[in-house]
Amino acid sequence: MTKPTEAAAASPAPQPRALQALTREELLAAVVEVGAPAYRADQILQWLYEHRVDSWEAMSNLPRSFREQGQRLWPLRTLSPVRVQGSRDATCKFLWQLADGAFVESVLIPANPALYGDRSDRRTLCVSTQVGCAYGCKFCASGLLGWKRNLTPDEIVEQVLAVERWQARQTASDSHPPAAQGGRAVDNLVIMGMGEPLANYAHLMKALTILNAPWGGGIGARKITVSTSGLAPQIRQLAEQPLQVQLAISLHGATDEVRARIMPVNRKYPVSELMAACEYYVARKGRMITLEYILIEGVNDALSEAPKLAALARRLHAKVNLIPYNHVDGLPWKRPAQAHCEAFLKVLQQRRVTATLRREKGHDIDAACGQLRLRMERELAGAAAAPPR
Ligand code: SAH
Ligand code: SF4
Repeated sequence: MTKPTEAAAASPAPQPRALQALTREELLAAVVEVGAPAYRADQILQWLYEHRVDSWEAMSNLPRSFREQGQRLWPLRTLSPVRVQGSRDATCKFLWQLADGAFVESVLIPANPALYGDRSDRRTLCVSTQVGCAYGCKFCASGLLGWKRNLTPDEIVEQVLAVERWQARQTASDSHPPAAQGGRAVDNLVIMGMGEPLANYAHLMKALTILNAPWGGGIGARKITVSTSGLAPQIRQLAEQPLQVQLAISLHGATDEVRARIMPVNRKYPVSELMAACEYYVARKGRMITLEYILIEGVNDALSEAPKLAALARRLHAKVNLIPYNHVDGLPWKRPAQAHCEAFLKVLQQRRVTATLRREKGHDIDAACGQLRLRMERELAGAAAAPPR
């Protein structure tokens, strides 16, 4: 039997699979299947996740014929931003256009002790998991244009890699801080961009496995926070996962009455059902969850709501993150006055709940999820509708 050469294509030709969607085991099997030595897999992963190359061409210690084969079989599908918006507090928002023309966003938030009282120098990236969102929360820009599709695992992973590549190119600039120690520009992930992550469960889990792996993104599981609008069955499913990510629940209302007014998902999974799923999660994982509560003037910010929220938090031993509402173009909602937000916080604290009031970063660049895409889509629609000159 003749030994296959490294360049020999397998027959029948396998379907191309994006390189950033492959785990080490999958890549190893694929490399061996085409007759290449197994160690090629680790060389490829080093190029991608340590050197953050954006092409097969750049993997200079691989034979040319193998690089060409790799490009065909496991294409490196990169993202480049169609728009980058930086804000005064150095938060940076990236708008990506995907291969099918759809837009999604990521937001890079460097830690700023003055804003968060946080001494660490972590750099957080907020990533998207879907194009649009089907859940239609009344206050959110992501749901305004409806749901288009799930992101693939490589589209989720690539948001991190593309930001790291972009950041590496900014090194000399004053307005953008240099990459974090160890060369990683991103060391903290929040899955709070566009879309409902738990509605794209399988792709999300694959992407997080890759981003967490030592051969991959190398981001500690405890530095990854998944935020959900409250899909109870998937919260229970997440409780069975070995991956120890942090869980945040977008509560925004402490009773069905308030919550259902702004979050249609509450009709499917009312507060009692959501709480039961969270209790199960906490019991299984032994981990604290966070309840997110946007403060929207005249909707959910009455001081009489705070004790109800405190009761839910105490029942789950959860901490509460209060977030003053970020205005969305075309929506009527407003954030309450700062003094009112502080009074709401105080009620929680008086009831011995660990709670923080977030001072919104990136407020001046529409950092609330979905806003940049919304603007882009509106601009494109406007351009299409405009009469020809
Ligand atoms: N779909 C998931 C994750 C994406 S939204 C979820 O709902 O949790 C991430 C967070 O941003 C959620 O807590 C959401 O309620 C919040 N959010 C959405 N629009 C906002 C706005 N205009 N101002 C402040 N927070 C907003
Ligand atoms: Fe979707 Fe989350 Fe926005 Fe609700 S808040 S519409 S679930 S992205």
